[in-house]
Amino acid sequence: MKRETICVHGGTYHDSATGGINTPIFTSSATSYLDRDRAAYPRYFNTPNQEAVTAKLCALEGAEDGILFSSGMAAMSTAILAFAGSGDHVVLMDELYGGTHSFATSDFDHLSIAYSFAATNAGAVCDAVTDRTSVIVIETPTNPLLSVIDIRKVADFAKARGITTIIDNTFASPVNQNPYLLGIDIVVHSGTKYMGGHSDLCCGVVVASRKNAERVRALARHLGGSLNATECYLLERSLKTLALRVERQSENARILAAFLDRHPRVKRVYYPGLPGFPGHAVAASQMKGFGGMLSFDIDERQIEPDRFVRLLKLVSPAVSLGGVETTITSPAVTSHAPMSPEERERIGITGSLFRLSVGIEHADDLVADLETALKG
Ligand SMILES: *Cc1c(COP(=O)(O)O)cnc(C)c1O
Repeated sequence: MKRETICVHGGTYHDSATGGINTPIFTSSATSYLDRDRAAYPRYFNTPNQEAVTAKLCALEGAEDGILFSSGMAAMSTAILAFAGSGDHVVLMDELYGGTHSFATSDFDHLSIAYSFAATNAGAVCDAVTDRTSVIVIETPTNPLLSVIDIRKVADFAKARGITTIIDNTFASPVNQNPYLLGIDIVVHSGTKYMGGHSDLCCGVVVASRKNAERVRALARHLGGSLNATECYLLERSLKTLALRVERQSENARILAAFLDRHPRVKRVYYPGLPGFPGHAVAASQMKGFGGMLSFDIDERQIEPDRFVRLLKLVSPAVSLGGVETTITSPAVTSHAPMSPEERERIGITGSLFRLSVGIEHADDLVADLETALKG
């Protein structure tokens, strides 16, 4: 089946009691153990609502097994700790999502896990590996500069050395990128973003082989970050339109990137779909679409950043991403505020950089809103 069809039909629960075509919400946290292999229990990650969603996600990612978490960070931290323990070394990319970055810097020391940050390219990531490396964590495209890393190169390198690879696939979503099929062991998503898609859910996902997923699930039963039935149902409902939404978001982002790229008050646009973008060729080889996220730097000599963002009427200044509505953030004052100004400048996060999470509105309305605000 194609992805649009999987979004609608993948994993659907067959409701023999009523013949209803949607998965019922099974609220029970107490189930009979007689005549069953194992009673369903939310923290065992085996309830019908959890299984309906994971079956859909596995079909979308081409993976064997999946686990639903109560947040993207629950998924990421549990996945890392399932494969890295005391005495191990973890390689991470320096442009990782802020929460993953600070998980390493705040918590790895007291867990006696060594770690190194590598620049955002496959060569640097592979060079950072030591004899003790058990896990490599990558993310592509990155936040907020949309840097692209060659997934196959990292996966092949790690496989040859028995190192477990983990990717944060949130920005691309399973519609635009399927890293498991490119050789990555563990694929993590913040389901809060594109999967939920309406800025009203918080959840996370791991998909992997049966063996690797079982190892993550075993730790997840102890750490306990499971998702409840109602949230599973809302996520399942959202996933039915995932392909439609992400296809429109990617198309709108392409139009906005081209518009901004031509605009005299915009200095630079970061979007993997732009032919001149450094990561374009690698992105084209591993992504089906270039996604709904883009960033751009405005020319402060012509327009003051704070004034620009306050003049927007349709595009809302808001953190998070992946919703049906277009939102904008200033990474220097939101996600990257904890960094020193020097460090931010070094990696290209200036006070005039904006990140757009492009929604499903009509592109003409979005272009008009940006055009008006850029006039100042
Ligand atoms: C939001 C986000 C996360 C964390 O997800 P939560 O659901 O907020 O815990 C991880 N990675 C990326 C790329 C994200 O955007």
